[in-house]
Amino acid sequence: MKAYISIDMEGVCGIVREIETDPKKGGDAYQQSRHLMTQEANAAIEGCIKGGATEVLIADSHWNFDNLVPEELHEAATLLRGTPRGLSMMQGLDASYDAALFVGYHARAGTPRAILDHTYSGTIAAIRVNGTEVGETGINAYPAGHQGVPVVLVTGDRAVTAEAKALIPNVHTVAVKDATGATSARNLHPKKAREQIRAEATKAIQGAKSIPPIRAKTPIEMIIEFRGTYAADARR
Ligand SMILES: [Zn+2]
Repeated sequence: MKAYISIDMEGVCGIVREIETDPKKGGDAYQQSRHLMTQEANAAIEGCIKGGATEVLIADSHWNFDNLVPEELHEAATLLRGTPRGLSMMQGLDASYDAALFVGYHARAGTPRAILDHTYSGTIAAIRVNGTEVGETGINAYPAGHQGVPVVLVTGDRAVTAEAKALIPNVHTVAVKDATGATSARNLHPKKAREQIRAEATKAIQGAKSIPPIRAKTPIEMIIEFRGTYAADARR
């Protein structure tokens, strides 16, 4: 049983402001976030192992993909770290995996009461796949589904868990914080959040077969709506 974890930072318990996720300007706040992220990663890894996973690959999927503290990471996992990565937040996932887990994820751009909601870049207003608006959860769940791999757990704020449930039937979720605005939230204690992630990851791995891989019907129509004409023109 092989598990794949894609981990972002904005949805980690205790993190609410962009500066806390910024490796260049974040200073001590960013360093604290790295530890919070690594501990949440460990909770998910432990949950996977308890649920029956014999191999865990974790893809650091925030900013330059080099946030997790390798020395602190649970030794049962292999760490995918750094750039470039052609498949970005899903690099390394193939059909040999039995389940994918998204940890520390955030809601798509334009979601009300969601911590640091965005879709890849601040210049993107919305992405639609076959007419359905998707965030990073959807954009990453589709290539997993294409490989026949179900996304079994999504963790982050309450908003991203709602987004995941609307897209993926039977997906397990853990809401580690409840946003009152884009940069303000009520947070669980990090230890409580990790307990829930650990327990839910175990259940999600054990029940992986009851969660369908989601596939976009082909031919896929993907529309990217930018916030401004300059950003759209730059991508022609
Ligand atoms: Zn991120």
